[in-house]
Amino acid sequence: MKKEAATPPLPSRNLPSFTSFYDIQQLLVEKILTCREVVEYYLSNIREQSHLGAFLEVYEEEALAQASIIDQKLAGGTAGRLAGMIIGLKDVLCHKDHPVQGGSQILNSFQSQFTATAVQRLLDEDVIIIGRQNCDEFAMGSSTENSSFFPTRNAVNPDHVPGGSSGGSAVAVQARMCTASLGSDTGGSIRQPAAFCGLVGLKPTYSRISRYGLIAYASSFDVIGTLTHTVEDSALLTEIMAGPDEYDSTASQLPVPAYSQQMTETPTSAKIAYLQNTLDHPGLHPDVKEKTEESLELLRQSGHMVEPVDFPLLEYVLPTYYILTMAEASSNLSRFDGVRYGYRSAESNTMEAMYKKTRTEAFGEEVQRRIMLGTFVLSASYYDAYYTKAQKVRRLLQNATRDLLDEYDFIVLPTTPTPAFKLGERATPIEMYLADLFTVQASIAGVSAISVPVGNSQAGLPIGLQIIGGAFKEGSLLAFADYFMRKNQAN
Ligand code: GLN
Repeated sequence: MKKEAATPPLPSRNLPSFTSFYDIQQLLVEKILTCREVVEYYLSNIREQSHLGAFLEVYEEEALAQASIIDQKLAGGTAGRLAGMIIGLKDVLCHKDHPVQGGSQILNSFQSQFTATAVQRLLDEDVIIIGRQNCDEFAMGSSTENSSFFPTRNAVNPDHVPGGSSGGSAVAVQARMCTASLGSDTGGSIRQPAAFCGLVGLKPTYSRISRYGLIAYASSFDVIGTLTHTVEDSALLTEIMAGPDEYDSTASQLPVPAYSQQMTETPTSAKIAYLQNTLDHPGLHPDVKEKTEESLELLRQSGHMVEPVDFPLLEYVLPTYYILTMAEASSNLSRFDGVRYGYRSAESNTMEAMYKKTRTEAFGEEVQRRIMLGTFVLSASYYDAYYTKAQKVRRLLQNATRDLLDEYDFIVLPTTPTPAFKLGERATPIEMYLADLFTVQASIAGVSAISVPVGNSQAGLPIGLQIIGGAFKEGSLLAFADYFMRKNQAN
């Protein structure tokens, strides 16, 4: 075994820069490249760009050892469908015998006892996990500045945030540190960082992918999804992860179509709605508006029916989302009490003091804010005024969104009101919450949605376009997103 032979850095061999798993797979099949070399390429990028703060931990030895095993499998013709796919996991996904902290100090020194179903299904197809990625604490945030470790920086311009909460996962793909990342999206945490980093970010339909092994933020919203350079890669990963799971009774029983096989079905005439009030919104950045309008025009010129529709309920999406997710979070996070997991305050001599001190010392400010507000809206005297009311508004928003999706194939809108903002720029919670204005609707409705890159702002920062599809319509959504990206690139 000549393992010591140094691999020349891949770019000098004139190979593609690994933006697509299909390209990597081709090179592996043709024996131009080994899986080990792919891992080495990513590891060297991780080392060179550690200032971006994408990873909390890199499994260097393990990934290399796994790569050698997969190279043998490739040689023997026994490799799985994802041989050569190197991924990172947002720090909210359990991976047995590896630490998982939800970006929080309260899970200090905690190791996963089991592997998330979605992750296991990828491992069964020979994916390699290269590390765990930085995120906002318990996925609460829109910039990754709420990580209890360090902020993550956007590779396009490190003065700017990558979005959040899956910011580390986005930057890892953006800066070629892995082929794809798994993130979670409760109100935009995959789509918004995808938009800020120039990537494809898919939030599948709620319940399409088992949540077993995903650290819960707001259980009726949380979805696992992908951050990739291409739509094809997202389709393949999603198809493998999705489907019923005996460990999550809320996971849908619906069969999973082979999304990756449907990518070539070019839609000839889709019915597309766009929300006029998102384009007229005072908070919308002119460059984002321009790119969205150009995209709509391109679709119109390509023979699709593109119509403006009214969505007067837009002003209710953020309050509804934040009341409900904080309520659910306050309940979900009650398990972190210093007894069962991770961190425990050293300075307490009664049980109650231990709970209090542990949670005060180890939860960050935003998490504490949400636990307190969530507890408040669930308290006996305010339950009906806030929680019940928000549930009713959620139903209205769901119905209105689903009615639109009965009439139209897709709803198109900007992913975010602005391109990536600067670190430290959004100083108050409300300013930060406004970053989610356009992403929470699909989360409230539980339907599928994707963000695809549509070019850059004048300052050179990526801009995303969001396409919302129906519930369990990932197949047509992915095919359409892929078609649109190709059209847009050709344009
Ligand atoms: N930024 C939103 C929030 O803070 C969305 C987070 C998410 O999707 N996990 O709740």
